[in-house]
Amino acid sequence: MDIQFLGTGAGQPSKARNVSSLALKLLDEINEVWLFDCGEGTQNRILETTIRPRKVSKIFITHLHGDHIFGLPGFLSSRAFQANEEQTDLDIYGPQGIKSFVLTSLRVSGSRLPYRIHFHEFDQDSLGKILETDKFTVYAEELDHTIFCVGYRVMQKDLEGTLDAEKLKAAGVPFGPLFGKIKNGQDVVLEDGTEIKAADYISAPRPGKIITILGDTRKTNASVRLAVNADVLVHESTYGKGDEKIARNHGHSTNMQAAQVAAEASAKRLLLNHISARFLSKDISQLKKDAASIFENVHVVKDLEEVEI
Ligand SMILES: [Zn+2]
Repeated sequence: MDIQFLGTGAGQPSKARNVSSLALKLLDEINEVWLFDCGEGTQNRILETTIRPRKVSKIFITHLHGDHIFGLPGFLSSRAFQANEEQTDLDIYGPQGIKSFVLTSLRVSGSRLPYRIHFHEFDQDSLGKILETDKFTVYAEELDHTIFCVGYRVMQKDLEGTLDAEKLKAAGVPFGPLFGKIKNGQDVVLEDGTEIKAADYISAPRPGKIITILGDTRKTNASVRLAVNADVLVHESTYGKGDEKIARNHGHSTNMQAAQVAAEASAKRLLLNHISARFLSKDISQLKKDAASIFENVHVVKDLEEVEI
């Protein structure tokens, strides 16, 4: 499981940073890629990665500001031009209005897609669990921005324990149907009378990962709730230390506030994105250094950077 950042800038694109989008690559888990936000130019960034647009099965939108959604019509249209590839449906989750934005853009531009889009719109009253599959559950909660904006908590379900085949062989269990029974948790008795307890040969289930991806927000308790015990928290850092007042006025956070959220939530790792173009590279190291005084495991991400979870 990896996160690849496609755009890490705030508000408008700069040479170094495109506007918001990131890909949660779940290729080993479910052979899918989930996009979070899709700012203008996201499809160009995708061209610089190994991500195949057809693998993008779900898109989660945090809010309707242009720097988070203007890339949708272009990406959706290009996704249709995957020569010789099967056309697969796509789900879009986001605030009410996203459906109208996408359908209007496609209609007035005469764009027809050869695949179906299923829209899942929500508002303040319909948040909470927005998706559950056999392997993942996704929750959304409202943040505190200048328009309705949410954060997402992606929870992988616990992974089943694995069978220790070497240990079974050593115990004299012949390879074959007995392995299957033991894997299903069934105790068995061998021909020589040896009792094999399944639990002794199956490793404990591993806890699933928790990934928290927030939209633009002031510091709010909702962020902490979404990030509790997260393996990774992706948090905006539009402003730096000392800019708390201006951050509040503009509906954003500073690096210090993001670090406070990570600490309060006992997250394991904090990745800062939504970085203003006014920050030069020396400012970026300062952003990290200042945030690390509150939460040590912090990193300011770059466009195209890939982070393993
Ligand atoms: Zn915004």
